[in-house]
Amino acid sequence: MARDVEELLQRRLFDRAPDGMVVMRVDDGLIVLVNEAFGRLLGRPVDQIAGHNSAEFGLWPAPDERAAVQQQLLAHEARVPIECHLQTRDGGLRVVEISADIIEIDGLAHTFAITRDVTARKSAEQALRTNEERFRTLVASSRDPILVTDAAGLLTYASPGVQFLLGYDGEALLGTPERDLFHPEDLGVRETMVSRLVGEGAPGVAVELRMRHHDGTWRWVETIDTNRLDAPAVNGIVTNVRDITDRRATEREQVYLALHDPLTGLANRRLLEDHIDLALNGATRSRPDVPGGAVAVLYCDLDRFKEVNDQRGHEAGDELLRQMAHRLRAVMRPGDTVARVGGDEFVIVCADLKTVADATSIARRVAEAVAPPVRLATGSPVQVSVSIGIATATGRRLDRAQPGTLLRNADTAMYRAKDRGRNHWEIFDTKMQEQINQRNDVETQLRQALARGELAVHYQPVVRLTDAAIIGAEALLRWQHPTRGLLTPQHFLHVAEESGLIIPIGEWVLSEAIRQLSRWQSGPADPIWVSVNVSGRQLRDHGLGPALTGLLTATTLGASLRLELTESMLIEHSPVVAADLDKVIHLGVRIGVDDFGTGYSSLTYLQHLPISFLKIDTSFVANLHPRIHPPGHHDRPALTEAIVQLSHTLDIEAIAEGIETPAQAQALTEFGCTYGQGYLYSVPLPAEALTALIDLP
Ligand code: C2E
Ligand code: MG
Ligand code: MG
Repeated sequence: MARDVEELLQRRLFDRAPDGMVVMRVDDGLIVLVNEAFGRLLGRPVDQIAGHNSAEFGLWPAPDERAAVQQQLLAHEARVPIECHLQTRDGGLRVVEISADIIEIDGLAHTFAITRDVTARKSAEQALRTNEERFRTLVASSRDPILVTDAAGLLTYASPGVQFLLGYDGEALLGTPERDLFHPEDLGVRETMVSRLVGEGAPGVAVELRMRHHDGTWRWVETIDTNRLDAPAVNGIVTNVRDITDRRATEREQVYLALHDPLTGLANRRLLEDHIDLALNGATRSRPDVPGGAVAVLYCDLDRFKEVNDQRGHEAGDELLRQMAHRLRAVMRPGDTVARVGGDEFVIVCADLKTVADATSIARRVAEAVAPPVRLATGSPVQVSVSIGIATATGRRLDRAQPGTLLRNADTAMYRAKDRGRNHWEIFDTKMQEQINQRNDVETQLRQALARGELAVHYQPVVRLTDAAIIGAEALLRWQHPTRGLLTPQHFLHVAEESGLIIPIGEWVLSEAIRQLSRWQSGPADPIWVSVNVSGRQLRDHGLGPALTGLLTATTLGASLRLELTESMLIEHSPVVAADLDKVIHLGVRIGVDDFGTGYSSLTYLQHLPISFLKIDTSFVANLHPRIHPPGHHDRPALTEAIVQLSHTLDIEAIAEGIETPAQAQALTEFGCTYGQGYLYSVPLPAEALTALIDLP
């Protein structure tokens, strides 16, 4: 009974075991017995297997695999599982591990095999291997090194890229401290990053630092770290290293370009202002108690550089600038800044001078450096000089000094030096400051003057010299200043020009004059013409054509309007200006030359441009019968006469300016000059006063 139960149980175990079981005769491969699991493995009903020879239904995918397996089984005395392949009914392959015993049934050797299907496990293992292989290849072939460092900071892995980038044999690095690889100055950054990564679980961030190459040089790299201390396979911090030497070089180049003048390699304005700032801060910090600690800014402008540029060409000009830059650099100390801030303008900054007087000796040194002739690639050597403006900040004023202000002051002083006749230096002082303030005040007030109606136009009569009859009038700008009284243009015209206010003011004068002209035209007296002064900027920046076309529409006033230009404005020969003047003349307006004889020696413009009148400058009139003879001054009546003659030859009307005495009027009449103006006849008058004069019967 118990035996029966045991057999039954064994049978059940055999049938229901999860692993396939098979009993096979060794000599011919006949399968004697199989269980359900083996049938499932092959995808066949059990009765299609048992009682058949394994060759009949193609159990072995390769014909000799059965023999090989059997041989192994016999050799190993079973127990050690053998891996082999079995073919299923539908032709698929299963990977199985077979462990087997040789048993004897009816005197014949049989294999009792337990087969375990490991197909899934095997393919998973394979996938893993492929993956690993792939990563290994990637890491190995990457030129970007990967390092692994353990918790103690020792290297436990270095990918082959470390050889490529840093020249080390990866193996040799193992066990060495990673800090040996980093630049001492960058260790702080590295350590902070690692401690945040490990201690705070912060994500790895890209850090730029230097690593030591095997040859001792430093390479700029970018590292990104990942904490894998908890991953058993890694057990460390993984550092991905990327070479950024090229990028750093480009960045450095860009920074350099942004801060330097490409022609000379000197600092540009941006870097200069930075350096002035540094100098001011440095000077305040290092010598708080030394009253003499001074920062000096020297604004240097080459005299007559433009001439060289115009006559010898831009290349020669560039060469001159380069050589000058070199000379300036050579006479300054290494800590001083030499910058180029414009065409031929250089600025030198000296920090920590003992006294302001030091600045003047530097100026002398600079002037001496500039003076020797410069050899250029072609042509004769050129010699230039330099005008220098100096601004200093000393003692307590250092705190309040601004780079921009120092620069501006030095610039102002430089202009003063130029005015003194070039090749000079000039120190910015409070008097200049006062003048600047005053100029700024004038500008502020002038801006409001137009809106507040403080501007006025006065008219100076122009007469026929023979009988003093008024034939025209010159419109002259006046400013009824609230505190300073009536101002003539000499007090504010330059400010108007510099600030551009001359444009709206000039247009206002024109419209005012035209309005007045139309009144006089409709009055009872003989019509007179009105002459308006025009500034160079009006002509250059805006053109007169458009403004006049607007003002003269539907009137015939054009024929009674005149414009006075100066020689310097006409000499430029700009086609744009010529076209503009053509437009003006089309409106019937006449164009004349003011202050004739004081400008340029060239008279060719008289031929090219439609000039209808010229005003003989006051100086030629005052010369005629001067009331006071300045020493060394000679009468030059011949020149005045020649101008009158010239006007006759060219058929241009001549008007003499500034006639103050009857003798002058007499002389001019004798020369053949027909018209004139001056205090002898009338000072400039308000419009009503002149109206009263011309309306006199
Ligand atoms: P300008 O065009 O040569 O004007 C003649 C100047 O000589 C005027 O000075 C006039 O007052 C002055 N003058 C008149 N008669 C005599 C005289 O007998 N002796 C002397 N010594 N001077 C006399 P003002 O009005 O001060 O104008 C100065 C300059 O300002 C003008 O010289 C002209 O160039 C400019 N200007 C005047 N008004 C305007 C204007 O509306 N626009 C522009 N752009 N410039 C103007
Ligand atoms: Mg004038
Ligand atoms: Mg004049």
